[in-house]
Amino acid sequence: MTCTDERRKSSDRRSGDRRGADGRGADRRRDFQTAAAWRGPERRVFERRKSERRTIERRSAILPEGLHLLDLPQSREGFRHLISAWFFVDSLGRRVVVDPGPPSTIPLLSDQLSSIANGVDLVLLTHVHLDHSGGVGQFCERYKGAKVMVHPKGRKHLTHPEKLWQASLATLGDIAEMYGAPLPLAPESLLDWDGLQGVTVLETPGHAPHHISFLVPFKGERLLFVGEAAGTVLPLAASPTLPYMHPASLPKFDYTKAQDSLHKIEELLQGDELLCYSHWGAARRARNRIALAKGQLGDWLSVVSEMRSQPEDAIVDHLLSRDSLLKGYSDLPEDLRERERFFIKSSVEGLLEYVREA
Ligand SMILES: [Zn+2]
Repeated sequence: MTCTDERRKSSDRRSGDRRGADGRGADRRRDFQTAAAWRGPERRVFERRKSERRTIERRSAILPEGLHLLDLPQSREGFRHLISAWFFVDSLGRRVVVDPGPPSTIPLLSDQLSSIANGVDLVLLTHVHLDHSGGVGQFCERYKGAKVMVHPKGRKHLTHPEKLWQASLATLGDIAEMYGAPLPLAPESLLDWDGLQGVTVLETPGHAPHHISFLVPFKGERLLFVGEAAGTVLPLAASPTLPYMHPASLPKFDYTKAQDSLHKIEELLQGDELLCYSHWGAARRARNRIALAKGQLGDWLSVVSEMRSQPEDAIVDHLLSRDSLLKGYSDLPEDLRERERFFIKSSVEGLLEYVREA
């Protein structure tokens, strides 16, 4: 048995544990993280994750007290430090969750929330893709009374999720199966679009036509939840000067709208923002991050335009060898490299489609 086979086997065992709909899977996962007596491949994975966590803590922005980043690892190999939810109590006393994530990890999210909050009042959704909002129906069954803010174009996908589910199965295949099927959200859970006290809602299309971002004052600074409007980052692979990041330009991507959205975000910045990503973590120096995202997106469009007749893998290889913001890729553990290559290739596909249709 190869090392990879062993890792996959142990991962499968863990993912089976995590699937429990009663939340006990999360307890078993915690047991796994703390057990001292693990041997063999499980022990090696445990040690690797411990060192990853240390690296992340060192390289992530320090969060203000009361802002929680709740990691939602999925059962597929490498799908950790990828999907997360945010939780905080705002200045009006509302208990707020941003992007509760897919159905598969609602029990895990609920388990994590139970140790920091005794309820949820408000759910902010950046967009309705499964990995961000697929679980909102299940979530609101647990947190009755929670109100949901989503772009008007996303409302029907939450109250009648069948079309979204079928589209997700068609584009994501077994990844959609892993995330799980969404449940319908009761229409009365949805908030009116026109105005949410204490939250600035910013339309930031590009990654999705209905993508929105949220700016919320919090303890003397401003939290800017950008969803996927400013790309995907990974604090595991940061260099001292540059983050590891890439565009979230999966099909169906609108380059012009995405650049306009970044420009709109840039104009809002005053220097006191904490940029809160969906994938993954937080960063200060928001102006610098947005400038990097704009520049990288432009560079990728040029590369994809020039190499449009070449195989997608050749474009990915070219970007991996030339883009300084992907420098940390080679230092990633093998399973994260595999996952990142998958999403980089998907982002190339989105730009190729945009270029061909332009
Ligand atoms: Zn998305």
